[in-house]
Amino acid sequence: MYDFIIIGGGILGMSTAMQLKQAYPDRRMLVVEKEGEAARHQTGHNSGVIHAGVYYTPGSLKARFCLEGNRATKVFCDAHDIPYDSCGKLLVATNDLEMQRMQALWERTEANGLEREWLGPEALREREPNITGVGGIFVPSSGIVDYAAVTRAMAAEFERMGGEVRYHAEVTALEERRREVVVTTAAGEFTGRYLVTCSGLMADRVVRMLGQDPGFTICPFRGEYYRLPARHNDIVNHLIYPIPDPSMPFLGVHLTRMIDGSVTVGPNAVLALKREGYRKRDVSPRDLAQMLTNPGILKVLGRNLRPGLAEMKNSLHKRGYLELVRKYCPSLTLDDLGPYPAGVRAQAVSRDGKLVDDFLFVNTPRTVNVGNAPSPAATSAIPIGAHIVEQVKAQVEG
Ligand SMILES: Cc1cc2nc3c(=O)[nH]c(=O)nc-3n(C[C@H](O)[C@H](O)[C@H](O)COP(=O)(O)OP(=O)(O)OC[C@H]3O[C@@H](n4cnc5c(N)ncnc54)[C@H](O)[C@@H]3O)c2cc1C
Repeated sequence: MYDFIIIGGGILGMSTAMQLKQAYPDRRMLVVEKEGEAARHQTGHNSGVIHAGVYYTPGSLKARFCLEGNRATKVFCDAHDIPYDSCGKLLVATNDLEMQRMQALWERTEANGLEREWLGPEALREREPNITGVGGIFVPSSGIVDYAAVTRAMAAEFERMGGEVRYHAEVTALEERRREVVVTTAAGEFTGRYLVTCSGLMADRVVRMLGQDPGFTICPFRGEYYRLPARHNDIVNHLIYPIPDPSMPFLGVHLTRMIDGSVTVGPNAVLALKREGYRKRDVSPRDLAQMLTNPGILKVLGRNLRPGLAEMKNSLHKRGYLELVRKYCPSLTLDDLGPYPAGVRAQAVSRDGKLVDDFLFVNTPRTVNVGNAPSPAATSAIPIGAHIVEQVKAQVEG
């Protein structure tokens, strides 16, 4: 019998496991992960940005945890010798409409308590000679890191304190009883007094295994990238982001310096026809059927038909994708866009057809389940883990 079982070896599962073990060093704990190693899904397929917290609604969990997580991630990396670079982020406006939107973002950064600098066209050119724009906001606290390395360090810390991790242990059934939770996996059956689930793209299915209606469905959105050739590794000094349309804040490809020194362009956001499907041709009949019969997802797709089709078109036609980035980096050409692996985002969609904006948790008497944890959840992993530990403590003590 374990005291705590955690499902999911992504950054949220490992952050939670590490902090639960710190809070309860003498208790038996187990992480179960279906893949053969940690960070195989969202955590290992992202932009690697330590976000500052520019866009999030003031007072939301995202705004709070991102700000705390930005600092906590850097402190964790310092303590574990994980390289990161606080290279800063530049939001670039390329026309009058974007300047107006940039003003609104400036006010939001104020409300979210961020240090930032307003740049006119001259200052922008000075900071970024290869970037064209009429103005920008510079946010110095944004940075880059390899989140898979962070996750592996968290797992190592958990195991060092006596925690156990089982890979190749896909959870296939859950039963919550009065005093325990039974977890059936491909590697055997385990019983825990309490259960935490951080199952990313499978979050809704895992909650359903508990016999609960999660109230949301996961809709997978693939984020496709290109990598620039090595001769462009110094094309930008910072992370370069366009000013988003406030109604579609997650759209807009950025130029991202990666911690290995390369520069990527992306990601876009196209509907994935398979959860955990990283190639365009990946299709899962089960996943597709669930999406196409889900009223919430159908509403989201219907409402966002035009931008959705535009993203799909640019996904299929490299030239369209290129134009998105040439808006602010005009020297790039088609030949500069080399292949780079895609990621798939787990985005919760509510029954009434809304993209759930904030981080979301679904609790039962003996379980805490992460329901919605899209970007900036990697940045926020340490405060999210601490938040989960607080919820578990309330269950243990309540
Ligand atoms: C394209 C893209 C770009 C992003 N960029 C950024 C960024 O720059 N900065 C940032 O902060 N965030 C970013 N994010 C978001 C961030 O990557 C995720 O929010 C974060 O990784 C979520 O972590 P997780 O542990 O919840 O999920 P995951 O990493 O997906 O982990 C979930 C784990 O659960 C396991 N699992 C699922 N079901 C089962 C089961 N039945 N049994 C056992 N194990 C199971 C999976 O195998 C997986 O390992 C990005 C995401 C994407 C996709």
